[in-house]
Amino acid sequence: MLLDSDTQLNQKSYYEASVVREPAQAPLSADLHCDVVVVGAGFAGLSAAIELAQKGYQVVVLEADRVCSGASGRNGGQAIVGYASGQEPFETQLGQAAARQAWDMSLEAIDLIDERITQFGIDCDRVHGYLYVADSARKARALESEMREMEQRYGMATDFATGPDVQRHIQSPLYCAAAYEQKSGHLHPLKFGLGLARAARSLGVQIFEKSPVVALKRGQELCARTLLGSVTATFGVLAGNCTLGEYGPAVAREIAPRIMPVGTYIIGTAPLSPATCEALIPSNAAVCDNNFVLDYFRFSADHRMLFGGRVSYSARTPARLQNIMSKRMADVFPSLASVPIEYVWGGFVDISMNRAPDFGRLGDNLYYLQGFSGHGVALTGLAGRVLAQAVAGQAERFDVFARLQHRNFPGGALLRTPSLVLGMAYHRLMDLL
Ligand SMILES: Cc1cc2nc3c(=O)[nH]c(=O)nc-3n(C[C@H](O)[C@H](O)[C@H](O)COP(=O)(O)OP(=O)(O)OC[C@H]3O[C@@H](n4cnc5c(N)ncnc54)[C@H](O)[C@@H]3O)c2cc1C
Repeated sequence: MLLDSDTQLNQKSYYEASVVREPAQAPLSADLHCDVVVVGAGFAGLSAAIELAQKGYQVVVLEADRVCSGASGRNGGQAIVGYASGQEPFETQLGQAAARQAWDMSLEAIDLIDERITQFGIDCDRVHGYLYVADSARKARALESEMREMEQRYGMATDFATGPDVQRHIQSPLYCAAAYEQKSGHLHPLKFGLGLARAARSLGVQIFEKSPVVALKRGQELCARTLLGSVTATFGVLAGNCTLGEYGPAVAREIAPRIMPVGTYIIGTAPLSPATCEALIPSNAAVCDNNFVLDYFRFSADHRMLFGGRVSYSARTPARLQNIMSKRMADVFPSLASVPIEYVWGGFVDISMNRAPDFGRLGDNLYYLQGFSGHGVALTGLAGRVLAQAVAGQAERFDVFARLQHRNFPGGALLRTPSLVLGMAYHRLMDLL
């Protein structure tokens, strides 16, 4: 699902504008055999490919468009511990021990980013530090109670501030509470993703771009068909995010109704002075508020404010997007009200009903990774690692996720979007109240 073109907007993301891609790889035009075929070359598919190759499997990755042209190359770059759902689905469905294991894996997900950056020499503007903020007294109480609980139950320490003390973390009139933690942080997602692709290739993984999988034959041997070729494999991995089923409805018919594509958008300003950036967010942390429809923002390495938020439930870019988002940014940082906006872009997040990740198997040899619910920058890496362990016969960690129950969005293909719009409108109203 691509964003519709809006001639007023510079549709090229800041990320695409700040990397030099290698020339496009040739589409698959042969019939290949391998151990594992991976559908999708975003963070999840590339991470799975790297981990599988490191275990000695022969891996072929089929990508419909370019490497990391989906959410992985367009996101806010915020690498966050934990899950979009919080710990609640793990605790209530699986019990405290498994919830603890899930939490620890979310910490491992952050470490894995740094491991790969070091191991494969990926230059991707990595920064540590994260700030959770609240813009009302009610939200401040919720933030404080959540942070206290996460500290007591999971040992996540934060530096919590309220009232005027918030200004030492962020110079904004909007926030009445802030919690700073050091584990999470941010990076340039496209530089990171292209680095993962180079790493995968260096391990012998074959990646074919412009090669959408349009049909997938299941059975003891899987066969993924593209327009010009095919890959037969013992195992398969579906890592196609929101667009997986659009290329061939049969590819993911059981799992597609469990995720909903929700559009989210980012503006990128012209470069600011380093002194301005340091004054506004002294720690250079990534920031997000605790509203249901949230704002998330950070500075890029070249001192632009990358400000994300706003959601939509169709493929259409929302009207007056740049104005709405600039105004929102100016509410947070009044001093940026007249700074030129040079980039506006967006993409789709794959949210699950309970916002918990949705990993599992279709039969014995076809695995899927989806439902990252806007928390995929770090978690996709870990997802690839536990998936590779499961393929190799050690499924205990994968099954912490696979045991979580997920429901289809109500209303089927036609009505699930209106249902979600109603639900989100309710939560937005609660944010405003
Ligand atoms: C604007 C935006 C901001 C975000 N901000 C953050 C953030 O700050 N922090 C965070 O943690 N998460 C964030 N996310 C979410 C995060 O980007 C995703 O969770 C993560 O990138 C998902 O990775 P993926 O590999 O599953 O999907 P993708 O990166 O979307 O990759 C899937 C790939 O599969 C390909 N594909 C699909 N179908 C087929 C097919 N049939 N055949 C072949 N290929 C196929 C697609 O072309 C695509 O390249 C954001 C997302 C967006 C869109």
